[in-house]
Amino acid sequence: MKRYALIAGLLGAAVCADTQAQPRGHQLPDNLTQISAHVWAIEGGSPAIGIVVGKKATLIVDNGLGTPNGKIVLDAARKLSTKGQKLYLTTTHYHAEHATGDGAFPPDTVLVRPRVQQAELEAEGQKLIDIFAGRSPEDKELLQGMTYLKPAVLFDSDYRLDLGDVTVRIAWFGPAHTRGDEVVMIEPDSVLISGDVVQNKAAPYFYCAECTPASWLAVVDKIAAQFHPKIIVPDHSPMGDASLVTETRAFTATLAARIAALKAEGKSAEETGKIVTAEMQAKYPDWGSLNRLQLGVTHAYAQ
Ligand SMILES: [Zn+2]
Repeated sequence: MKRYALIAGLLGAAVCADTQAQPRGHQLPDNLTQISAHVWAIEGGSPAIGIVVGKKATLIVDNGLGTPNGKIVLDAARKLSTKGQKLYLTTTHYHAEHATGDGAFPPDTVLVRPRVQQAELEAEGQKLIDIFAGRSPEDKELLQGMTYLKPAVLFDSDYRLDLGDVTVRIAWFGPAHTRGDEVVMIEPDSVLISGDVVQNKAAPYFYCAECTPASWLAVVDKIAAQFHPKIIVPDHSPMGDASLVTETRAFTATLAARIAALKAEGKSAEETGKIVTAEMQAKYPDWGSLNRLQLGVTHAYAQ
């Protein structure tokens, strides 16, 4: 039997906030972990995939790179659900390793997505697919013949989904890693699926032009004000508790303040990038992805 990597290997590291090299070829059942009463995760790949199982319906959060990975995710969701149960699908953002598994899903799957994320996917999605397909034969094969589902629900900022005995809130708070990042709060379980926005000891990756330390901080502030999760499941780093929000907030606040101060002193974007990268590496020695802060500086200077 052929085994598919749920991950994009080193390539994923170039697009999202991977903190460690991921092994290839995980078999899904070994990685399916119950997080809480209604929440399961396919862990060990990058990204982690969330599955929320209610009495009436099941929500899948992210579906991997390409149709073969989508099939692995779909099979896991079906295994956890009652036969014929309604399926909802949503994606934390439009990047290929999160959102190109659609082809495996039946056409009656209800795809829910922020309006901003859908627009971003339509504008930029192919570019990401090309980047992944161009970097390794394995990823190219995974993406072969990929198709997108048409969203059934597009929302502006907040969507409440009733899965029967569990309510889920999907929220878009503004640009952070991408323009269309969403977070998924499983309210009765006190679990937040935080995408790339709240990670565990992984520096923010300011991918979109509007993505700055200040915009990221504003998103984290909204998460902190509205949600009080006990468990946080990030995309590309280990699970954690509420302290992940506090840490991400402190990191982005420090970064935003230092960039503003250095800009006011007349430093160039390049100088500021070098200074803040060195400062944050000294302050957060155990964090990954600290080599990409220049992007956040460049975007902040452009605004
Ligand atoms: Zn990403």
